[in-house]
Amino acid sequence: MESTTLARTFCRRLIRLSSWFVPAPFRSGWRRHYEDEIEDWALLVDRGDILPQNRPLLAFTLSVAAATLRKRLQVEANPANARRLAGTPAFAMSVVLSAALALAVLSGGFRGFRAMLAPLPYKEPGRVVEFRAFVPFLGLRNAIPAETLEFWRKGSRDIQEFAGYSIQGHVMRVTPGFFRVLGIEPASGRLIGDGDRPGCCAVVREGGSAANLIGTVPRGFWFKSRQVDTWVPLGDAGEGVLIARLKPGVSAAHAQQELRKLAQTGIFRPVLRRVQAMRVELRPLNEIFRFPLYVAGGGLAFSLILLALYTGVAALVAKPRPHWRYWAFLMVKTGAVMLVFAAAWVEIAAWRAASPTRLDGPALSLIGDWTFLLVYVGAVWQSLRDQRRRCPVCLNRLSVPVSIGSWSSPLMNPASTELLCLEGHGTLFIPETQSSDREPERWQPIETSWKEAFKIPGQTA
Ligand SMILES: [Zn+2]
Repeated sequence: MESTTLARTFCRRLIRLSSWFVPAPFRSGWRRHYEDEIEDWALLVDRGDILPQNRPLLAFTLSVAAATLRKRLQVEANPANARRLAGTPAFAMSVVLSAALALAVLSGGFRGFRAMLAPLPYKEPGRVVEFRAFVPFLGLRNAIPAETLEFWRKGSRDIQEFAGYSIQGHVMRVTPGFFRVLGIEPASGRLIGDGDRPGCCAVVREGGSAANLIGTVPRGFWFKSRQVDTWVPLGDAGEGVLIARLKPGVSAAHAQQELRKLAQTGIFRPVLRRVQAMRVELRPLNEIFRFPLYVAGGGLAFSLILLALYTGVAALVAKPRPHWRYWAFLMVKTGAVMLVFAAAWVEIAAWRAASPTRLDGPALSLIGDWTFLLVYVGAVWQSLRDQRRRCPVCLNRLSVPVSIGSWSSPLMNPASTELLCLEGHGTLFIPETQSSDREPERWQPIETSWKEAFKIPGQTA
């Protein structure tokens, strides 16, 4: 004797699941029909009239489920139905969701975002700052003149230690103070320190290898680029980008003030160097690293405020008043587009920071930023445009454009287009001729008595 309990439960579940592919008006009737069929069969089995075999029951249920799915796909594949489906609010939302999903997959589950939230792998990373110097008319320069640096070393009471670095591909050249400034202990051997001259030795990540190896850094350590895996000595801090560790309790702003003042006291210095030193900037590493996060967050907040304002004004002037769902859909859809772009910005920035190339110069990254901004504005614009072509009652896209009027008599009978809601809620009148007193777009609800004409068998209005 076979037990049919499990098979019965499974088949009932499958029938229930399949019923969602049946159009709503027929759903409950369809489900009851097949559930009764299974119940009758079970009754006969329990009475001993037929053999308790699972196979026929499963075969029957699977064939019903497959037929239902096939039928539904045939209906949806019909061009008219496909167009109707593509016009639904659910479809618009699924397009945005697909983009979010694609981004999640491409970015390895928003790896860049998660990395920015994680603390930097240094001892008290909040105390490490990076220097930026501006030269008037020449823009940004990272190198600090050696004599200025010497002056700071002697006079500063805010800075514990200076160090410099420069990146070339997967190799980073660092000054003897570099690992002390970051507060890194060796995983094995020793790290580059005082007395190590350029070309003498190398440090790699735990498990790696190199010529003249003196020691390794912990596996999780990285600085600026995750592609760097070898560290070799650099002659002088002034040759590379300058970093420093602040003394405990000192803020980056305070230290910046102090260094600017110190540079000003060197009155015998050539004018250009003095100005350059005065315009030096100290930025905490944390801030540099999380900067894309601030940009994306600020941009998103700003965009959402604009969207709320736009929606508020549009809701005030709209006549006749659309249902509140119309405005909710506009906010949710456009807000989701904005969120996807903000997330994409963070991931792209993290990806660019992790793999700096020679191509990633200031000019190219500026072009990249502007391109991104243009695509973003275009996408938001599309979302707003899409909304204006939707029925204010059911939110479906309006279709069946009908040309009315005539291009040859623009005065008496101006050319225009009328879009129709397929559910029969009304028409949108769009004037096409340019005239001084151009008529605005106008929504015209259809009389209730007309709605019967739009009813499609098996569809609820
Ligand atoms: Zn409608």
